[in-house]
Order: sequence, then C-alpha cells, then structure tokens
Amino acid sequence: MKIEFSGAARGVTGSKHLLHINGKKILLDCGLFQGRRKESIEANMKFPFEATEIDAVVLSHAHIDHSGALPILVKNGFTGPIYSTHATRDLCSIMLRDSAYIQERDAEWMKKKLKAPDAEPLYTIADAEKTLSLFRSVDYKQQIKVCHGARVTFHDAGHILGSAIEEWDIWDDETSQKVTFGFTGDLGRKNLPILKDREQLENLDVLITESTYGDRLHEEIKDVEDRFAAKIVETIERGGKIFIPAFAVERTQEILYVIREMQHAGRIPQIPIFVDSPLATGATEIFELHPECFDEKLVKMFDRGENPFDDINGLQFTRSVEDSKALNQFPGPAIIISASGMCEAGRIRHHLANNISDEQNTILIVGFMAENTLGRKLVEHESPVNIFGEPHELKAEVIIFNAFSGHADQNGLLDFAGACGTPTQVFCVHGENTQMLTFRERLKKLKNLSQANVEAPLPGEMFELQQDKSWKKSSWRNPISQQLFPDLEVDPLRETGV
Ligand SMILES: [Zn+2]
Repeated sequence: MKIEFSGAARGVTGSKHLLHINGKKILLDCGLFQGRRKESIEANMKFPFEATEIDAVVLSHAHIDHSGALPILVKNGFTGPIYSTHATRDLCSIMLRDSAYIQERDAEWMKKKLKAPDAEPLYTIADAEKTLSLFRSVDYKQQIKVCHGARVTFHDAGHILGSAIEEWDIWDDETSQKVTFGFTGDLGRKNLPILKDREQLENLDVLITESTYGDRLHEEIKDVEDRFAAKIVETIERGGKIFIPAFAVERTQEILYVIREMQHAGRIPQIPIFVDSPLATGATEIFELHPECFDEKLVKMFDRGENPFDDINGLQFTRSVEDSKALNQFPGPAIIISASGMCEAGRIRHHLANNISDEQNTILIVGFMAENTLGRKLVEHESPVNIFGEPHELKAEVIIFNAFSGHADQNGLLDFAGACGTPTQVFCVHGENTQMLTFRERLKKLKNLSQANVEAPLPGEMFELQQDKSWKKSSWRNPISQQLFPDLEVDPLRETGV
C-alpha cells in the first residue's frame, strides 16, 4: 500500500491524497487549488496522475477546496464512483454547479478584459452535472467496500454539514497485513452551533490529520459574542454597513444563528439583514433537509416549529443580480452577508469594491483566509487592493473573529491525535508550511505518538507501507507536483534536523 500526497500538502487548498491499494487507485478528496490566479489555474489543470487510472473517489466534505476539482477529473475521463455522505452529495449538487458557473464567467472575463481569446473554463456546468451522476451517498457509520481489501466508514467531523472523518479498514495484499487508518478531512470544533460535535477514531495504525490551525488557539464563540455585537452596534451608530464575507455553507448559517440569538436577546437593534449569495440561500435550504447532522439544541428548535435560519427580523435572501446591485443604493445601516468566503469570487467582490473605501463601514472576517486571496489582503490591511483589476483604498474597519472558525485549533487537533491509539505513522496535511511544521513538532511530544514517525509530506511525495508497519518515503517524487510547487522545497526542520 502506498499514499501519494498530491494537494493540500504544505498548503490548505487542492486536497488530493492518492491511495494505491491492492492494484487500485483511490483518491481521497479532489479539491480545487485557490489563491494566485495564474498559479492556481495551472495547478488545477495539471493533475499529477491520469484521471482514467483512478478507480474511485472518497469525499470527506463538500467544500470546494476538497470537492471542486471533481468535474476536472470527470472531464479528463474518470467514470468511477464518488462516495460521500448524503448531505455532502446534496451540497455538492449546488456547489459544483456554482463553481462551474464561476469558471465559465471567469473565462469570459479573461477573454474580454485580459484579451485572452483562448481562455477556457476549467469546467462547465455540463461537466459538473456529469460529476453529480457518479455520486454514491451513504449514511454515517455505514461501512462501504471501496475496492478489494479496502472498506471505509464515515463519522461526524463537525466541520460543515455532511462533513466526515474517514475510518479505513484495509487488508494489504503486498505486505499481508491489516491496516486501520484515519483521515480527519477537515476536523471541526466542539461546541459550535448547529452541528453535532466531531467523533473520535481509536486504534489507528496510521493517521492523516489536517493542520490548518496547527499553531493557533481560537477564542470560544460565547467569548466573542459581546465584541461581535459591539462592532455591529458601533457601525450602525456611525451610519455604516456591516459586510460579512462568509462561506455559503455553514458559516452563513452559523452567522444567521448567532445574529438571531443576539437579536432575540436584544443585544443588537433591528436592522435589515441581507444574505446576498444564491449559493448560501440554496445551502440554507439543504440544511433544513438534514436533521441527522444537527446537534440536540437545533433538533429541539425544529421540533418546536422554529427555523433558526429564517426566524430573524429584517432578514432577506436576495436572489437576482438586480436585487444584489440594488444593495449599492440601499440607504443607511444594514448587515450584508455574502460569499465567497475568501472573497475570491461571487457577489462579495462587488460589495467590497463599492464599499471598502468608506470609513463608516465595517468588514467582519469570520473565516480562514488562505494566502494570496483578497480576504487575506483585507486581514493584513493591505491598501490599496485590486478588485476586478482596479485599485481600491481600504478605509473600512476590518475586524477578525477567528472564533467562528469551523476548524479545530491546535488543542482540538492534538486532542484528536492524542486519543486515536498508537499509530506508527502520522501525516500532517492541509496546513500552510509554518503552521504545519509547528504542529508536527507538537504532535511528536504526544505520549501516544512517542514511537510514531510524524511527517509533513511535500507535494508529490509518496510513502510505502513496510512489513514492520512502518512507512518508508519513496525516492520517487511526482515530477508534476514538484514542478507546480517549487517554492516549498525548503524544509527548515528537516534541514536542521529538529
Ligand atoms: Zn472544509
């Protein structure tokens, strides 16, 4: 058995981990790379493997950095099954279509504005629809056979609706041994509103763990609600608007939930609230279909006939482009929640272009912003920032609330790893270089991992299971991955032998 790390290796986007098991190739996630336009387009176009050689995909959750390259895989000839939970399939049915629509629009824009007549979308809505026909959705805790010798079970990850931690039971013909390995996907935080908390895997031989916040601790949501409410009130008092770039799935619904709680407690005045993202509106409807993912409090609210995503004074879901544009002329204070979460696409870019130069306004950052995204530039107070090719002075107030993160922080990640048994091998993925390397050192200090080999693989590195249950790094490294990510060559910890 071998594992090859093709994406979200020393990075947070483009999740793709390729398992070679008993002559079959199984892909864990197939996400889009996001970030600098040129580099990410190139990385998304060049798969470091042949799509036709992949036998099946197992998808941890619907976020585009985990699912968004599936239509490229299908366009390049993949015809196998895509396994996911039911809620992930339903979310993908809107998210992949939406992503295709963005790709089509992007290609049009490049043709016109960049005078690039050959610009083609990465994939089209037709490719996305073909992809959706390959989904095979299953229940949490329902073990499925993916290929000879490989079975997987989904468990709640508590990250977004439908998100799963994967528990793999494998019989490896080559070394004649049984291997249990766990893949965290994106690991959620405990005590977040809406979703059930993440579950714990035990008795693992191998762990692949995300490490997005491997070097940071989050504040608790209840601890920041005062500050959140205060910023909303302050902005209203100076006559400004509040813009919240939010992932359409999960973050938007969480923010609505929190606003509803604050409104019902009289902590914020009643003002118009707009959810200006057709995707977020569609996702909110899908949430209502999947009570199996909800925590007890939410199930009880629905049982009482309350809808926590809708029962908010002044809330409107804008659907048409005209309604969205009309918000530019909307007088007086309002809260505008819009996608995409990292401000790389969608209506939020128009709102930011029109509003970030007004010092009355506030931008509330409630999600992770990857390197080189517009969202990250706002977090770093870069000014001016380019939006649609034009510079805009950043004068609006930017406030960051990491408490809303859907990812476990360092303690949450260590709790999971510390209770997963005594694996011989741990792979850290889905983290930027520095976070991941810090996290790797923290992992090595865990009692149950004292004998484990802890790696943070570079893109294209491959590891092979040995007879003694150890994993050996192959001298071969995928040349396409290596060529796509030349900046990641330096590994300070490896060099200094820390
Ligand atoms: Zn995610």
